[in-house]
Amino acid sequence: MRYQAREVGVDGRVRLVLEGALTARDRVGVQDFVLLENFNSEAAFIENLRRRFTENLIYTYMGSVLVSVNPYKDLEIYSPQHMERYRGVSYYEISPHIYALSDNTYRAMKTSRRDQCILISGESGAGKTEASKKILLYYAVSCPAHQRMASLRDCLLQSTPVLEAFGNAKTLRNDNSSRFGKYMDIQFDFRGVPVGAHILNYLLEKSRVVHQNHGERNYHVFYQLLEGGTEEQLLHLHLDRNPQKYLYLVKGNCPRVSSMNDKNGWKALVKALSVIGFTEGEVQELLDVIGSVLHLGNTQFGEEEDGQTYVTTEMELKTLTQLLGVDGAALTEALTHKKLTANGEEMISPLTFEQAGAARDALAQAVYGRTFTWLVEKINQSLALDGSSVIGLLDIYGFEVFQHNSFEQFCINYCSEKLQQLFIELTLRSEQEEYETEGVAWEPVQYFDNKVICDLIEEKHKGIISILDEECVRPGEACDLSFLEKLEDTLGGHAHFVTHKLANGKTRRVLGREEFRLLHYAGEVNYTVTGFLDKNNDTLYRSLKEVMCQSTNHIVEHCFRRGELVDQKRPEMAATQFKNSLTKLMETLMSKEPSYVRCIKPNDAKQPGRFDEVLVRHQVKYLGLMENLRVRRAGFAYRRHFEAFLQRYKPLCPETWPVWQGELAEGVSTLVQYLGYKPEEYKMGRYLVLSEYPVPEEIGVIVIQAA
Ligand code: ADP
Ligand code: MG
Repeated sequence: MRYQAREVGVDGRVRLVLEGALTARDRVGVQDFVLLENFNSEAAFIENLRRRFTENLIYTYMGSVLVSVNPYKDLEIYSPQHMERYRGVSYYEISPHIYALSDNTYRAMKTSRRDQCILISGESGAGKTEASKKILLYYAVSCPAHQRMASLRDCLLQSTPVLEAFGNAKTLRNDNSSRFGKYMDIQFDFRGVPVGAHILNYLLEKSRVVHQNHGERNYHVFYQLLEGGTEEQLLHLHLDRNPQKYLYLVKGNCPRVSSMNDKNGWKALVKALSVIGFTEGEVQELLDVIGSVLHLGNTQFGEEEDGQTYVTTEMELKTLTQLLGVDGAALTEALTHKKLTANGEEMISPLTFEQAGAARDALAQAVYGRTFTWLVEKINQSLALDGSSVIGLLDIYGFEVFQHNSFEQFCINYCSEKLQQLFIELTLRSEQEEYETEGVAWEPVQYFDNKVICDLIEEKHKGIISILDEECVRPGEACDLSFLEKLEDTLGGHAHFVTHKLANGKTRRVLGREEFRLLHYAGEVNYTVTGFLDKNNDTLYRSLKEVMCQSTNHIVEHCFRRGELVDQKRPEMAATQFKNSLTKLMETLMSKEPSYVRCIKPNDAKQPGRFDEVLVRHQVKYLGLMENLRVRRAGFAYRRHFEAFLQRYKPLCPETWPVWQGELAEGVSTLVQYLGYKPEEYKMGRYLVLSEYPVPEEIGVIVIQAA
């Protein structure tokens, strides 16, 4: 008797779904989309997701891809007992789970000795960060460890609250939205013991430090400090508990988030910093930096009749200079004047009221952004140790659309395109190519290749980033609008690029004169060009840098190096830097064996139990899940090298057991036929046997015992 699926319910009980016995399946759906009868039907696909979601079965496989739907509630499925259950167990034997994927990846690393990576994707709020945390927890808790590795495990786990406090914020899409990208390498020694880790961070959204959209917040750490800091700490920092007193915290008019407890967040942060090994002095200096950013935000300017700008908030400035450990007069001067060097001569010119405000904001962003990088470096020091193999974990911002989208969304969505491109490259394309090399007959599956959009953004000379860079260095009247014009001139006919001028009734919503629209793989996004040039330039006046270099705060001093002042070469601009770091990331990922978690967001209200079909359908579409499934089905979900297959299953067939004497392929054929596979259920390639279903592993176990 063959069964088609085996389900383990949330109650932990096993249900075997036998062929023909569809009752259980009707209710809970299939645990692998590959088993869907009507695999060409998007409706059946979504219905399967919905049924499982309703039963709190948030995970479903698609071959080796794990599809996950955010439950928006805590499920009792992540305990150490659950971890135990998944250890060393094959995919198909037990209900789909993020732990199963983690464990399989781990075993693949150990047996194949190949570096692995787990790519987590999905739009903002779909559950990527939660998934990455569960994976990390799995490795930290369930991998073998030495006594002295206990501290590594703690550092590994404690890096999360630190990075989240400083790099996450409430947005309209997600109360705990990661505003930076994170790629973590977990290093294992030859026995599979985790020995070290390394984090790479990508482009923190710095503008949030000085401005938030309505209903959003600044980074968690500010609110956590005000809520959870001790009286003495706040006194020392001259801070008031009320966040509404700080101009950098009021823009979104959203000091509290119902789903977050800032006080506990603070406690967790303080504990984490100490576990990772921050000294008391370092923590104090870190607090000084956070405090100084808030005081900087409250630093205001006045304008004399003659246009001279001056600082009106003397007290703030005094506190600021104390906290930053810099010279007060020098800071005042640097906030209101700029130094220019022309023909080798230094000139000082006053800043206008607006310029002074912009200089202050630029300083706040630089201080915060660089401190964030410093934090990552510190964490890396605590984790540093190379192993012999690696599992990489990528949790990077997901596709994001707001009412107003700016440079940040542009970068985030570009990143999302790149990841989709990688997914296509590695699953849709390579898999189809594998059938070709194997000489197996197959029906090619059509899919949308988003390379055209990646090119539109990143191509040399005529891509959006190139044009932006060019506009940033063009002397004269370059501004955001001239950038938009350049885009129109260069990209006019492009199928994925639209502006007000080029619209021709092609679009549904009318575009503003300062907007351009990109037709991303995941949907349309209108970007407002305002601020693009400034954000890409990311300049901080030299005189402000000079002041920061003199800081007695070690973090600030570390972040503003003197070398920067001497270096004449213009640093790469923000978007290009980002592009280059993404290119490197893609290379790293390509060199590893990938597994995927595809996260889906069930509703926009962040509520449990709600499954918005329209929203889900949209994600299923753009994530390319149907195509992915078709490729899997067109071929065969399960493939093994002849040798491995024979080795593993020969005990099941008397003719192949104990030693098969003939050709490998023949042995496999004999075995497969003996196992009762029908001719249409498997194919023999040149080196691989491909089948629709795997051989149920535990049958193998029983027979082995009998023998
Ligand atoms: P993303 O990183 O994709 O933007 P998050 O991982 O931060 O999204 O998830 C957003 C929120 O959804 C989390 O703060 C949490 O409340 C909820 N969530 C996500 N995944 C799970 C899960 N597996 N179990 C329970 N809640 C979850
Ligand atoms: Mg996240």
